[in-house]
Amino acid sequence: MESGADTGEMPRCYVHPELLAGGFCVSCGKPICPNCAVDVAGKNNCKNCLVEKASAPARSTERNFNVSKRQLVGLTGSTLLFLGVFTPIVSLPIVGSVNYFNNGKGDGIFILAFALISIALIYKEKFKGLWITGLGSAGIMAYTFYNVESAISKAQSELSDNPFAALVNIQLQWGWALLASGAILLLATAIVNDAPEQSAKV
Ligand SMILES: [Zn+2]
Ligand SMILES: [Zn+2]
Repeated sequence: MESGADTGEMPRCYVHPELLAGGFCVSCGKPICPNCAVDVAGKNNCKNCLVEKASAPARSTERNFNVSKRQLVGLTGSTLLFLGVFTPIVSLPIVGSVNYFNNGKGDGIFILAFALISIALIYKEKFKGLWITGLGSAGIMAYTFYNVESAISKAQSELSDNPFAALVNIQLQWGWALLASGAILLLATAIVNDAPEQSAKV
């Protein structure tokens, strides 16, 4: 009984109440015995705090890494879409190269809007929304592509009797490549998000 009163004042390990604490954990401030104390750069830590410290940052780093990789792909897609609007999609005689912005239809505005919405979605990590912006842009492109194609064939048939018809050279331009890859990358970003990447390591 005397011994109990004696040691009652001494702090006891919070994990092992039967043992006297040799010190305190610098992280949680609880008394710990030498078995529980782990020396980290000259400071005592209890094992619970070390486990928390070790697992928390590792988990968040891994998640950030995966997300940023996805965001990078998505942002590349948005950028390609954005640039695609301002690159030549068709070249016309006399007029020269025409891009999505000055094709007279204003469809490029929608592509621009989808590109900007995509960037906002990627920033907020709402990757599912990229299905809408990706498919939406692809739909508008298909619509424009059809219009351009029919305009070309119409112009060529109207000009078939014209002696200058041989000079008429209407061609689709490389802007389509940017626009199409932009939409594909957006959809890829949406798809990748659905596939769990368990094996990814930093
Ligand atoms: Zn602790
Ligand atoms: Zn202990």
